Amino acid sequence: MPPSESKSGFSTLAVHAGERRQKQADAITDAIYCSSTYTFPSTQSVIDFIEQKQPREEYGRYGNPSERVVEAKLAALDGGETALLYASGMAAIVGLLMTKLSAGDEVVFFNECYHRSREFCATHLARFGVVTHQVAACDYDAMDKAINSRTKLLVSESPTNPHLSVVDLDRFVALGRKHGVETLIDATLATPYNLRPLAAGVDYVLHSATKYLAGHNDLLAGVLVGRKEALEPVRKLRGIMGAISAPHNIYLLGRGLKTFELRMQRHNENGLAVAQFLAEHPRVEKVLYPGLPTHPYYEVAKRTMRGFGGLVTFMLKDQEWQKAAAVIDAVRIPRIGPSLGGVESLIEQPMVMSYFECSPEDRRRFGIPDNMIRMACGIENAEDLIADLKQALES
Ligand SMILES: *Cc1c(COP(=O)(O)O)cnc(C)c1O
Repeated sequence: MPPSESKSGFSTLAVHAGERRQKQADAITDAIYCSSTYTFPSTQSVIDFIEQKQPREEYGRYGNPSERVVEAKLAALDGGETALLYASGMAAIVGLLMTKLSAGDEVVFFNECYHRSREFCATHLARFGVVTHQVAACDYDAMDKAINSRTKLLVSESPTNPHLSVVDLDRFVALGRKHGVETLIDATLATPYNLRPLAAGVDYVLHSATKYLAGHNDLLAGVLVGRKEALEPVRKLRGIMGAISAPHNIYLLGRGLKTFELRMQRHNENGLAVAQFLAEHPRVEKVLYPGLPTHPYYEVAKRTMRGFGGLVTFMLKDQEWQKAAAVIDAVRIPRIGPSLGGVESLIEQPMVMSYFECSPEDRRRFGIPDNMIRMACGIENAEDLIADLKQALES
């Protein structure tokens, strides 16, 4: 690791941070350690390890050499002290909430959020006596009013999914500090390239590394980044819950990270180009993209984000869900599927993909109209994506 790491450029960090210069067998790449356990040369070395005289691996659930490398890289990319890798983004959020919240505690959420995070809090944390308050996204006064002496954590995504509302991190952090409550930002849609939550004073940043960080639609992973001391109990609970990433996944994630900045630059370019094209199209009623001046959070986004990502949400003028479905079925490049942030573009109708079993009232409450389409731009050429959307909208 170069000593000047914190001053390095983003890609220099993505390629080199966390890695030793000279590796096992003099290989340029890190090895994959398919080892469930680690052996000790003697009883005395076991005792030395237990008395923490000897830093080393012990058992696969508590750590793996390549996991440490990728965690150090992810911490460097977010400018955090430490990172914790998980088997998925959901495992990471569950791991943090289970560590930080006890019966009687309360958590306040902005309501535009990944539906499984909402479900975990409202349905499962509730069984353990944790109370969840949901307030409208970016309504800082409502969040302020929902905080009381039992509140332990303020949670938001930024940008939110699929509305792409952008949280004013200064206001969010100020609320936490005012009440002495810790803050968590799920920055999956922004990534450390586009948004710097820790620099703004947020306590924990979470990413579904399944998305842009790994970037190839070929693995699931999640990461939490923050202060070492604050994350130590979370690391301990991870060792008990066991939602760890497998060695091959860790390798693929580390490999994907090498090209992270290049991919993000293309995702940002494609997202903006597709959003601008859609905004001009006569069949499109509205486009939600933080990089468009018409977006309600454009000013916050412009002030706080380096780029606006590859996710573009738009509504057709035709209100029937079948019309939106027909556009989705007519595209030839994006595949139909959930997820985002991979090299392949994906497209979906949130009403069908994630909210089909919800009542129409719930869909209204969550802001998911029938005519909404969500496109996750990959790294294909923007001209091709635009030509494809054009033929699909005009077929
Ligand atoms: C996908 C996603 C998650 C969940 O991550 P997994 O890796 O699928 O478990 C959480 N938050 C956001 C914003 C996501 O997009």
